[in-house]
Amino acid sequence: MYTHRRIIMAIVFAFFGNSVLLAAPKQDQAIPQQRSMRYISRSADDAKAWQEDVRARLFLLLKMDNSLQRRNSIPFSANELSRADRGTYHIMEVEINSTSSRRIRVVVTIPSSKAKPVPAVVCIGGHGSDLYSPYDPKTFSGEGPRKKSDSIYKGFGTVLAETGYVTISTTVSQHKVYEKGRLLMTERLWDLIRCVDYLQSMSEVDKRRIGCGGLSLGGEMAMWLGAMDERIAATVSAGFLTTMDQMEQNHCMCWKFEGLREHVDFADVYSLIAPRPLQCQNGMLEPASQFYVPLARRAMDEIKTIYKDLDRPENVILDVHGEGHVIDLPGLVYFFDKHLYENRWKQEIYDMRTKR
Ligand SMILES: [Zn+2]
Repeated sequence: MYTHRRIIMAIVFAFFGNSVLLAAPKQDQAIPQQRSMRYISRSADDAKAWQEDVRARLFLLLKMDNSLQRRNSIPFSANELSRADRGTYHIMEVEINSTSSRRIRVVVTIPSSKAKPVPAVVCIGGHGSDLYSPYDPKTFSGEGPRKKSDSIYKGFGTVLAETGYVTISTTVSQHKVYEKGRLLMTERLWDLIRCVDYLQSMSEVDKRRIGCGGLSLGGEMAMWLGAMDERIAATVSAGFLTTMDQMEQNHCMCWKFEGLREHVDFADVYSLIAPRPLQCQNGMLEPASQFYVPLARRAMDEIKTIYKDLDRPENVILDVHGEGHVIDLPGLVYFFDKHLYENRWKQEIYDMRTKR
């Protein structure tokens, strides 16, 4: 019986096999290969080499490879537009050169105590945000009532400002490209890199302790900034960890640019941050069509691979919280305090909890 079946199959293939082969897509019509640079476990040295290769490839795709070398020659020509004293910190709005022909506005907060250089955080908003969105209304005056959409950020910039961090914020929510030959994602990332440049120029900032954090598109840009700018010492990426397959549906497509999918998925971009500390935040109330926790867990399993290979498995964490598409404020503050402020509250909290 079995032999019979094999003979019949052989005959069927003899008749139809050719047409099946002819019907297969030709090489040039084939679907482009996806994720050709996917990270798979390897030695620590090879993992670092992989990061260099992927970063170089992404800079090429972003058409950013030349501009990076040139940026030291671009003066900030900072112009302070406003300044206010908020007690524990000062806030100012400043205009600086992002490129040699484009200026951007940034909000900067500086702690009032001038003890020694302190850590700093680049605070990043998502779609519909502006440079004030990560802050609480009490940080700025005369701006009118807070936009309801901004409540998702929980004023994390204000909390960091009040607790001894320098903070900086700019606007990355635009969807138009300002300069010829640039990409949208390039201009967004570039402006954030310039924020880091600006922080590094400030005497109040400890250059080795600069972090970045954001939600949604801001979480995506925190991923990009942490991945591509190795000066970032700690990254909080909230409301963004997922897969590119998921982002192809029900989402603004501004995340995508030519060549990206062919080389990497988001887990690979996050993997460029290793071994530097990374916290991703995803809320349990995110629906399956959005930044769904089960998908985030799967992506996080992939990211953990390179942290293990680089012998820093403790430096990456998925913070699953009970809300939806919002910042988990205690989680964010804990993470930055731990990695940028030497876990400063640890002993105090222990003492408090063990006091009899
Ligand atoms: Zn968009």
